[in-house]
Amino acid sequence: MNNIEVVNLTKKFGDFVAINGINLEVKKGEIHAICGENGAGKSTLMNMLFGLIEPSSGQIFINGEEVHFQSPKEAIHQGIGMVHQHFKLVPSLTVYENILLGEEIVKGFKIQQRKEYEEVQKTIDHYNFDLNGKDKIQDISVGAQQRVEIIKMLHRNVDILILDEPSAVLTPQETDELLDNLIALRNSGKTIIIITHKLDEVKKCADRITVIRHGKFIGTVNNKDVNQQEIAKMMVGRDVKLD
Ligand code: ADP
Ligand code: MG
Repeated sequence: MNNIEVVNLTKKFGDFVAINGINLEVKKGEIHAICGENGAGKSTLMNMLFGLIEPSSGQIFINGEEVHFQSPKEAIHQGIGMVHQHFKLVPSLTVYENILLGEEIVKGFKIQQRKEYEEVQKTIDHYNFDLNGKDKIQDISVGAQQRVEIIKMLHRNVDILILDEPSAVLTPQETDELLDNLIALRNSGKTIIIITHKLDEVKKCADRITVIRHGKFIGTVNNKDVNQQEIAKMMVGRDVKLD
């Protein structure tokens, strides 16, 4: 069963066609890597799935139902969460407060309800994430801040999680921890879409890989059927020498 089906999706910025008639299928419970060079259209494509950008034309189906998201809030409500490269956390607030921020149950900026912290703690424990709810964002590592962003989405019960170049801000060790977390989430039934152009990461975690180039769909392949060289060739359109 496909969690996500994108049909002939197009996005134009003025005369410029950033996404050009893309078809994409993401299966439930897989890690699906979206690969492409800088400017290929990866973020634009995913931002449309998250309700941040309105498509110019084409269709998006979630669990078989066509959707027209007007905002990330609507996407989250439908079970799609996204973590961007640049976090939207408040440094002076705690992990708990940041996770709850933006929820309807939160009245005012300062959150103090103990019960809600307990609910957040249950989510952190459930996914076995290395986070201390009482730490302030400004005092924790970038890797931990990213875990807060991920838990924030999981706490809203999304079953599809999109990550836009999540390793760009991480150390190699933090990247390995992230990939382990993503694999565990996949094993627990979540669908993960990871945007990256780092092929070693793709090889480590992805089940399937979709390559886009200059806004066009190039192909979707099983990770086990391709090597890094072949993915790189799909990305740039010619043979490339990898270091
Ligand atoms: P990627 O994430 O693969 O690096 P993007 O989706 O960010 O690529 O961008 C794809 C193309 O669309 C790029 O050429 C970029 O300059 C262009 N683009 C992205 N957003 C906008 C925008 N808001 N206005 C005009 N052009 C944009
Ligand atoms: Mg991008």
